[in-house]
Amino acid sequence: MTASADSPERAAELAANLRTVQAQLAEAASAAGRSPTEVTLIAVTKTWPASDVRLLSELGVEHVGENKVQELTDKRGECVDLSLTWHFIGQLQRNKAKLAVANSELIHSVDRAKLVTALNQAAEALERDTVDCLIQINLDPSPMAGRGGVLPENALELADFVASSTHVRLAGVMGVAPRGLPAGPAFEKLQKVSQTVRQNHPHAWRISGGMSHDFAAAIAAGATHVRMGAALLGQRQYLR
Ligand SMILES: *Cc1c(COP(=O)(O)O)cnc(C)c1O
Repeated sequence: MTASADSPERAAELAANLRTVQAQLAEAASAAGRSPTEVTLIAVTKTWPASDVRLLSELGVEHVGENKVQELTDKRGECVDLSLTWHFIGQLQRNKAKLAVANSELIHSVDRAKLVTALNQAAEALERDTVDCLIQINLDPSPMAGRGGVLPENALELADFVASSTHVRLAGVMGVAPRGLPAGPAFEKLQKVSQTVRQNHPHAWRISGGMSHDFAAAIAAGATHVRMGAALLGQRQYLR
């Protein structure tokens, strides 16, 4: 059982999980010959209450991620007094672009030109100079895989399109390793796409890869951002 929100037990549980995760990240970085300071930890708080975000913030977590626009908006609203960077990591529909731009600092899931156009218009309407985004790469070798993302061979074309838009800033790439396959080759593919994109767009250095079960493989392949849910917060229960 997970301790109930706000209880001292929940605070202790999150503190212990965070210590473990930070130690594992440091170990993975050092095994890869990298400094742990090169890897940004994003706490994926989807399905968990704003009180958990608050506890994590008190423990020093600065980056949080959400995959649903409404949940992101509500939780950010409950945490306006905290100094946090919000990441949107879910699939994004064009009609939610404005809400996503208004409530996040980095959008990880840009995978089509029409969405870029919608984000550009949203940023303009909100009088934001720029919205930072990552291009999501489909790392699944099976052609019918439906986890979102542009195919690796089309990434550069989309990156060029993002770079040509006035209010969307290309910050890097993102990927989710396909289920049931070794994660290493998937993250190496992501790293290759990143290198290709950076030849045209040197400032787009971010690589968002890795989740609770595969972050070490992502860090070995150059990930600069890892998105950790279960390892920090516990197993999600969608029917609560
Ligand atoms: C939920 C989610 C995560 C976190 O997954 P965990 O296995 O709980 O660490 C990371 N990335 C994306 C895109 C997600 O939707």
